Amino acid sequence: MLIVNANTPEHAHVALRTDGEHIVALAPDLAPEPGEIVFDAAGGAVLPGVHDHHLHLLAYAAAIGSVPCGPPQVDCAQALAGALAERAAGSEGWIRGIGYHESVAGDIDRYWLDRVLPGRPVRIQHRSGQLWIFNSLGLQRLGVDEAGGGDPFERVDGVPTGRLYGADPWVRERLGASMPALGEASRRLARLGITGVTDASPGNGLAEFRHFAAERAAGRLQQSVLMMGSEALAPAWTVPGLSVGATKIHLREAALPPFDVLCDRIERSHHAGRSVAVHCVTLVELMLAVTALQAAGVRAGDRLEHAAQASMEAVDLVREAGLRVVTQPNFVFERGDAYLASLPADEMEGLYRAGSFVAAGVAVGAGSDAPYGDPDPWRAIAAALDRRTRAGRVLGAAERLAPATVLDLYCSDPLRPGGARRRLEAGGVADLCVLDRPLVQLFADAAAVDVRLTVARGRIIHSA
Ligand SMILES: [Zn+2]
Repeated sequence: MLIVNANTPEHAHVALRTDGEHIVALAPDLAPEPGEIVFDAAGGAVLPGVHDHHLHLLAYAAAIGSVPCGPPQVDCAQALAGALAERAAGSEGWIRGIGYHESVAGDIDRYWLDRVLPGRPVRIQHRSGQLWIFNSLGLQRLGVDEAGGGDPFERVDGVPTGRLYGADPWVRERLGASMPALGEASRRLARLGITGVTDASPGNGLAEFRHFAAERAAGRLQQSVLMMGSEALAPAWTVPGLSVGATKIHLREAALPPFDVLCDRIERSHHAGRSVAVHCVTLVELMLAVTALQAAGVRAGDRLEHAAQASMEAVDLVREAGLRVVTQPNFVFERGDAYLASLPADEMEGLYRAGSFVAAGVAVGAGSDAPYGDPDPWRAIAAALDRRTRAGRVLGAAERLAPATVLDLYCSDPLRPGGARRRLEAGGVADLCVLDRPLVQLFADAAAVDVRLTVARGRIIHSA
């Protein structure tokens, strides 16, 4: 294939030829060869294919077709009850909700759901992805023993509240549910110019690896995948387009592991030849993660997921430790207004820092955290540049990234988020996307970008 009349960060006017999985030529002008597919970029930018450094493919696939239960679609208890009732009227079996947040109806439990929808099994996921809330009929379908135990449900006075933390594989096993096909999820990502993803689900193990491999082999999953996950994954496992990444360690401030247990887990992972990716959202979680990594020893590729709250002292510690950060600029846009309404000023300042990390010399990559965030990387790039919320307010002006560095968020190597940007060059893998506008206009209004063409390993996976 030949792409003509394009521009890249390095070339104002360029043509690019691919053959098989690779880029074979790049020059200001190339003449079409007989029988070659020619794509006229019409002055649009051609960029390395976007890599989303942190999302959850199975949850994203399942979210397509679930009931949105949180902002912006649902913003109060009444709206939530209405959305659930509406879905109940037009369907059968389980009702699956996603994106719940306390701002809608507080810390809801089984009894709240029973009042709203008693006649159908319901489960609603908190937008953090860490919590499910089931109604009583849902608990019954799961086979939860009300009096007994032996299940991971939260209990008060021995009675399950319907709230369940971090137990997705357990739920899947109980429901006998097969993992969702990934075709539609993959198509949606391809439309956004995404040619690779890092799956950040902590529960990923052999079953998930096999499922992803089968979805790749069937041609449904068209992106390359770096799979993070539990200790059950072995770094030697690899099939074309799928490999094993870091051990995902999830910290929750309310139930932190003892320091030496955490250090030990990091050391064992390094010993097994894997980096670690530590989920830290609060400042306490971030400080614990950095201190433990320093004590255990940092391995190239070790990373902090989210780093949603960071003081300037923490930024310095992260730099000293040589860690990289994978942030979510999209949350500034999606959740910024809620943060501005609820957080004290001193916490606001340290929220989803990007500019301060980059200025300190920390490598910063980005991922959407889909389905908990919107997977659109262009919308996120706009937010990284202007730090504007959905309502147009500015959150952390000092954390803006410059056009010169913003593409590093998504165009860096999957194993080195925020590291050197992958370049389009002869001999390189043909992972690329063509935008509907030149590079300068991308920076002026990134949120408006349309992707005209997405090519993964030389194959067209999206064409507008
Ligand atoms: Zn995540």
